Amino acid sequence: MADRFKAVLLFGMPGSGKGTQGKMLGAVPGFYHLATGDIFRSLDRESDLGRLFVQYSSKGELVPDDVTIKVWKQHVDGLIESNTYNPSRDMLLLDGMPRSLNQAEVIGQYIDVLQVVHLVAHDEDKMVERMRRRAEKEGRHDDAKVDVIRNRFSVYRNETQPVLDHYGSELVSEIDAIDTPGRVLQQVLTAVLPVQEQHFGNALEA
Ligand code: ADP
Repeated sequence: MADRFKAVLLFGMPGSGKGTQGKMLGAVPGFYHLATGDIFRSLDRESDLGRLFVQYSSKGELVPDDVTIKVWKQHVDGLIESNTYNPSRDMLLLDGMPRSLNQAEVIGQYIDVLQVVHLVAHDEDKMVERMRRRAEKEGRHDDAKVDVIRNRFSVYRNETQPVLDHYGSELVSEIDAIDTPGRVLQQVLTAVLPVQEQHFGNALEA
């Protein structure tokens, strides 16, 4: 278990701003942002895997765990091989993984979770609005319809939220997600920098 990837998990319901925060924090030296949704969206839509992804995501459902873990692990191995992600230099910032208890258990063989950043947003209507705007901008088929968005919330509550208990409150930092991206980032940095420094030191001196 010694060489598991050291990781911080970005957690929060769809539309809570995980991707926005992940991209900003991923630009800070010493962090590598990896979003499972981005991995899936980069698949060729005509491939078997690409089709499977659309089949589930277009309904707001999760892709089955075994496929998800396999695709994720292959992707991470490729990033290491190409020296894009270096596990001894960078904290892995996982966005959208794990999303079920089973995924949390299986992925435990690959990652050492040092912290969970929970972006807390209670106002579902506000989240729906954010997601519809994003769907228009990015052409995301899964967030264009309100009933699909609502289903994603219920999948989050039923399957993903229990993952927080799996890690326990001592690992979880709760952060108010209803603020400007810069203010939320400020809180995220306050929570994660001490953990990153403790495990990796100063990335620029490495
Ligand atoms: P958001 O950023 O809006 O929360 P994502 O881009 O992370 O959404 O995910 C989009 C879709 O990709 C999900 O609805 C699901 O179908 C699929 N997906 C992403 N991560 C996972 C995962 N860990 N397990 C299963 N399916 C996933």
